[in-house]
Amino acid sequence: MTMADQKACIINGKELAKQVKQDVAKRAATLREQGCAVRLDAVLAGDDSGAAMYAENQKRTCEELGIEYVLHRLDPDATYEEVAGRVLLLNEDDDVNAIMVHLPLPEGVDTDRVQSLIDVDKDVEGVNPANIGNVVYGRRSLVPCTALAVMEMIESTGVELCGTRCVVVGASNIVGKPVVVLLMSAKATVISTNIYTRDIEELIRSADVLISATGVAGLIKGNMVKPGAVVIDVGIARIMEGGKSRTVGDVQFDEVAEVAGHLSPVPGGVGPMTVAMLLRNTIQAAERT
Ligand code: NAD
Repeated sequence: MTMADQKACIINGKELAKQVKQDVAKRAATLREQGCAVRLDAVLAGDDSGAAMYAENQKRTCEELGIEYVLHRLDPDATYEEVAGRVLLLNEDDDVNAIMVHLPLPEGVDTDRVQSLIDVDKDVEGVNPANIGNVVYGRRSLVPCTALAVMEMIESTGVELCGTRCVVVGASNIVGKPVVVLLMSAKATVISTNIYTRDIEELIRSADVLISATGVAGLIKGNMVKPGAVVIDVGIARIMEGGKSRTVGDVQFDEVAEVAGHLSPVPGGVGPMTVAMLLRNTIQAAERT
């Protein structure tokens, strides 16, 4: 049997996330025994129903793991001053270990400015630019959750990143760029690509580890993947199939599963691990205080 005939091992994000959550629950219990409550405060402004639903799910998950979740619902038309003011209050509050700001913020509120205000030691989504800067300098930091999820999923395959050729497709601030920085920190050889990259298929085909984060459904086809490669699919897109809407990733799953050595599915891959990484960052922030 050649490598190309091999069916990829599927990286089970749900199972990995379950293990992370069990570890988080244990660590939260230890902190409680020491008299320290773990608390995540989330700011929700605007009237996005998706964000409100996400906040409700977060609350439930946090409570299951012994993390207190306090939601600060601001007016749907809150101003920059109101949102920023709340973040600054939470920065000062010693009972708050972790802060996140739900997006989208109301129109006219500068998201970058708000995110830059979050105390770096409480910024569990890693959205304050100082945090990714700290990763570059090899200092202690809280790292964006999706990028951390990607790293955990690669690690679960047992592949040694040092010296390995990694190609990252997509270079956004929240996913592609942080993934590149983390891979560089792990001493991988990293190629960052985007929509303007010339001869991109050739580069993708050369990857021992391929991470795709574009949101373009089915962008990565079977003949673009090196046999035996580790493929991590971050993309999320909705497509219509047989009259029904379905969630898919950047990777043509069936084709690539015939070629890759390890493959993360969508749904059930990076998504659940991203949620788990937020909780792990929260416990880390609490342990440091
Ligand atoms: P973005 O739109 O900010 O960035 C997309 C990137 O992909 C850009 O750098 C763009 O140049 C590149 N790109 C677009 N089309 C391309 C093409 N044809 N070839 C090469 N590069 C191309 O998106 P984002 O916020 O980084 O998110 C990317 C995807 O990841 C989305 O589908 C998003 O929903 C998903 N996502 C998933 C999670 C999760 O937890 N699973 C978290 C964040 C984002």
